[in-house]
Amino acid sequence: MLDVAKASWVQVKDAADRGVLAVLAVGAVEQHGAHLPLLTDTVLAAGVARRVAQGLDALLLPPVAYGDAWNNEGFAGTISLSPTTLRAVVEDIGRGLHRIGVKGLLTVNGHFGNREPIALAARTLAELGLPVLHLDYPKLEVFAGEVCDSAPAGNHFYHADEVETSMMLALAAETVAMDKAAPEYPAFPETFGLEPMQLSTFNRSGVFGDPRPATAEKGEALIRKIVEESLRLAAIWKTRHSIGL
Ligand SMILES: [Zn+2]
Repeated sequence: MLDVAKASWVQVKDAADRGVLAVLAVGAVEQHGAHLPLLTDTVLAAGVARRVAQGLDALLLPPVAYGDAWNNEGFAGTISLSPTTLRAVVEDIGRGLHRIGVKGLLTVNGHFGNREPIALAARTLAELGLPVLHLDYPKLEVFAGEVCDSAPAGNHFYHADEVETSMMLALAAETVAMDKAAPEYPAFPETFGLEPMQLSTFNRSGVFGDPRPATAEKGEALIRKIVEESLRLAAIWKTRHSIGL
């Protein structure tokens, strides 16, 4: 793995000449309750991306720290990119990689609202000739069921809960205030997902679920499983695109 944050251009050129892949974490500056920092999604995605890059001997790109967190703007500190901006950022990064000969891009997304802009950027980049595998913590709902004790607040909805808090305890424990961790199981309006909706209209604390049973060991198990599954999918994707390495 080559960490682009610490590498010289010469090192990146050597890697690109060998036909390297690149891994990009995409996160968000978004509220995560009173016990987790605003940068949670970026820290988690970057932690997973680092291990995926190690597993693929790939370029580890500096993360995109901001994402499309529009529906959490009711909470102070959430600073969002528009979907158009985020899509353009990922496309521009992909173009830069393609220009120097990188063979493919894997995105590791840590925030639900980024999914669509990243998928659309991936389509543009694929048309330009850069294959993109856009990963969203694959099989997280299965792994959360295996590892965690508390119930999720909603279907496939993990936000400032036992899942995210455990992963933060594994990656950046010094930024977690467990004494402020408190549960909230909001009642989702029936039209949730069917209309643009600020989460602050039905959620008071910013937490969805119960972060209290979180531990670093659970977080480590979740991250390990997510990385294994990501690498399994990456191998299939590489074969589909005849990427050697
Ligand atoms: Zn999050």
